[in-house]
Amino acid sequence: MNESWTWLGAPLPTIAILGAAFLVLFIAERLAPLRAPRSSLAGRLVVNACVSALALATAYFVVAPAAMAALREVSFRQIGLLQWIALPEPAEVAFGFVLMDLSFYYWHMANHKIPFLWRFHNVHHVDPDLDVSTAFRFHFGEVAFSAVFRVAQIVLIGVTPFTFALYEILFGLHTLFHHSNVRLPLALERWINKVLVTPRMHGVHHSDVRRENNANYSVVFSLWDRLHRTLRLNIAQTRIVIGVPGYLEPANNVVRNMLVLPFRTQRDYWRIADGPVVERSDSDITLPRNGMQA
Ligand SMILES: [Zn+2]
Repeated sequence: MNESWTWLGAPLPTIAILGAAFLVLFIAERLAPLRAPRSSLAGRLVVNACVSALALATAYFVVAPAAMAALREVSFRQIGLLQWIALPEPAEVAFGFVLMDLSFYYWHMANHKIPFLWRFHNVHHVDPDLDVSTAFRFHFGEVAFSAVFRVAQIVLIGVTPFTFALYEILFGLHTLFHHSNVRLPLALERWINKVLVTPRMHGVHHSDVRRENNANYSVVFSLWDRLHRTLRLNIAQTRIVIGVPGYLEPANNVVRNMLVLPFRTQRDYWRIADGPVVERSDSDITLPRNGMQA
C-alpha cells in the first residue's frame, strides 16, 4: 500500500493540490462573491485557521493512523463487502467510492441528529459567514470521534487503499468547493448540482433556520439528499443568514470560545438570545423544494 496517497497522511503533493485549490477559490470568491459577508474577514480567518490547524493535526495524528491500520486489516484479512463480492477492479473502485460517499452522508446526519455529536459539529456551523476558510473548521473533538467512524467505514465497505486515497483527495477538494462563497452562473450550478453538491446547496445547510440546517448533508454526490428527501434548494442565498442563532453574537466566534463550546452548557441553538425561534417567512420560499434559487 502506498501510504503517501492520502491527504490524511499529509504528503506534499496532496497538500500542494489542496493548497492551490484553496487559493483559487479564495481569489474567486473575492472576485465573484455569492453571499455578502456579515463579519470581518481578517477576524474569521484567524479563528478558522486556528480551529482548522487543530482539526488537521488531529486528522494527521489520530485519524490517519487508525485509517491506515484498518486499510491494512482489510487487505490482509480480505474482509468487508467489496472483498467478499470481488468485482472487476474498475467496478470495485467505482462502487467503493460511491459507498464511501453514502456513508459520509450518514455520518454527517449523525453529527446533526445526535445531541452529543452536535455539540462538536455546531462549532463548524457557528462561523457567521461561509467561505472556503470554513471548509476544515471542525472542532478537534469531532475529528477525533470520526476516527471510529472511519475504521467502521473502511472495514464494512472493505475499501482498497487506492479507492480510499482517491476518495480522500476528491473529498478534500469537494469540501473546499462546496463551502466556498463563489458565485457560479445559476444555470451552470443547477446543472452541476444534478450530480454534485455545490456552494448554493451547501449554503442552505449553513442557514440559521433549523429545518434548513437539517437538510443537504451530502458531501460529494447530491444524490443522497435526493434519495433520502433531505434536499432543500428553494431559498435565495440573499435571504440566508449563515450561522447558529444562539451563537450569532460576534463575541462568540473567538478561538477560545470555539474550543471550549462543546464542554459548556449549551444554549437554545435556534433562538437569538431570549427571542423567538428563528423561522423562515413563507415569502422567502419558492416551490418546488429542489428548485435551486439564485
Ligand atoms: Zn453540518
